This record gives sequence, C-alpha cells and structure tokens, in this order.
Amino acid sequence: MDIIQRPEDMQAWTRTRSRSGKTVALVPTMGFFHEGHLSLMRRAADLCDQVVVSLFVNPTQFGPNEDLDRYPRNFERDMTLVRGENVAAVFAPTPDLMYPQGFQTEIRVRDLATHLCGRSRPGHFAGVATVVTKLFNIVLPDVAVFGEKDYQQLAIIRRMVRDLNIPVRIVGHPIVREADGLAMSSRNANLDPNNRAAALSLSTALELARDQVRQGVTDTAVLTSTLTGYIHGHKGTEVDYVSFVDGDSLEPAAAVTANTVLALAVRIDGKVRLIDNGLVIMERPAS
Ligand code: AMP
Repeated sequence: MDIIQRPEDMQAWTRTRSRSGKTVALVPTMGFFHEGHLSLMRRAADLCDQVVVSLFVNPTQFGPNEDLDRYPRNFERDMTLVRGENVAAVFAPTPDLMYPQGFQTEIRVRDLATHLCGRSRPGHFAGVATVVTKLFNIVLPDVAVFGEKDYQQLAIIRRMVRDLNIPVRIVGHPIVREADGLAMSSRNANLDPNNRAAALSLSTALELARDQVRQGVTDTAVLTSTLTGYIHGHKGTEVDYVSFVDGDSLEPAAAVTANTVLALAVRIDGKVRLIDNGLVIMERPAS
C-alpha cells in the first residue's frame, strides 16, 4: 500500500493507473478509523479496481470554538487497520500542502448548506465542499463513497458534483452502528463511558419517532417536541436540533411522508457533538 503526501504525487499515481485502464474509488476521511470507515472502503473495493483513502483532518471545516484540537488522531493505528483492507493507497497530506500560502478559493452550495448543521456550524459546509473538490482534483477518482451518517454532507456533495459537472460518481453508504444502535463515529472516542446512555438517546429517539408515526402521529411539530423532551430526559444532553426534513431538499417537513428524514444533533456533556439520522418511515421493518 502506498502512502502519499503530495498532491502532485497523488495525481501522478492515479494517472498511471487510469492509463492502464484501472478504475479508482476514493473514500475521503478524517481518520481514526472504525467499522463505518472500513465498510466504506469495502464498498469502494466492490465498485472499482483500486481504492484510495484520503486521511486529512480538514481545519477549514472546523469553527473557532469547535473540536479541531481534540479531534481523535492516530496515524499508526489507522495504517494498521487500512492495511487489512483492499486499499491501494492512502493520501495523507499536511494542512500546508492542502492550503499553501495565499490560498483563497471557496466552494459554497447555497440553500442545502443553510439547514441542519449549517445553522450551528457556519462555514462548515464551505470547508467541506472546498476540500472535497480539492480531493477530487488531486485523487482524480471515478467513484467516491460517502456515508449517509453525514446526510447533509452527502446531499451537498451530490448537488455540487451535478452543479459543477465534476466527473465523479457519488455513492452513499448506509450508517454502520454499534450493537446497541449508537452510530459509529470517531468522536465516540471522546465520550466518557458514563455518557453512553446519553449518546444512545439519538438512535433510540429515531426508533421512538418511527413508533410514534406507526401509531398515527405525523405532525412534525408534535413529534419534534416529544423527541426533544425524550432526549433531554437523558442526563448531559443538549439538543442542537431535532429536524424532520425532505430527504432531497432538506427543507423542513410539516408532516411525515415516505421521503422524510429525521436528523438529530445533540451535544453530550457540553463537549461531544453527535449526529444521527434516518428515514422516518422504513420500507422494511428493522430486523
Ligand atoms: P469522517 O472521518 O468522520 O469525516 O468520515 C469519513 C466518511 O465516513 C464520511 O463519508 C462519513 O459519512 C463516513 N462515516 C462516518 N461514520 C460512519 C458510520 N457510522 N457509518 C457509515 N459511514 C460513516
């Protein structure tokens, strides 16, 4: 497996493979791998001949009071995990290589970025859209795989790729969860074990919403208030948002329909902000 730091080396790597007819799939990550990341890598390996994983904790998507410094990192552990997968190269640049002196370009996806996390994280999605565009131009992939865990991010990237005619196929991959339902996240490493019950309130709130809808409650104002109360019933939780939105436009939904997604962001113990989401009406009952 190749570990590549410099953008021009990465471009040359892919060009060599493309010339010999190989397809390349990219999995963009910020590292500190868990099963969610690994399942994206496996999906990428099913889709293309060669998988490239990018590992870059992108400073421009963190706000001034966010957890950039506390974001978990362990390069050696990540390399051990990634070597167990069918990954041909890891692209791991430094911030200086990605944002050299004088850098001043930004990509903004307007409306989609105003909802959900965009409200409490101004500038976050411009940081994401810009770095993902750079990664596409550096890695030159045919396909890129993103997790539905970051539902808004995936919607924004799909929009951006269409709007800018970027020749990359975007593939979304379902959320991978712990056995108890907690959505896997690198940030779970920053959770105090005592806060596990609080963290679990996100996934159990999703189940509660589905239950309520099965019982005929479809007014999202009523559901939002029930769920907010439910989450706040767990010690150490502070709701950032409980939002029922259209799965494509991310516009707020007044009543639950087949395309309504429930998106949640909750701060745990004042320091770890967790997100989760899911369709409210499941096509198949969860087994
Ligand atoms: P991150 O390293 O958190 O930026 O995530 C890198 C990619 O992994 C993103 O596309 C995420 O949506 C995806 N991802 C993170 N956690 C999960 C999960 N639990 N299940 C599926 N995909 C995930």
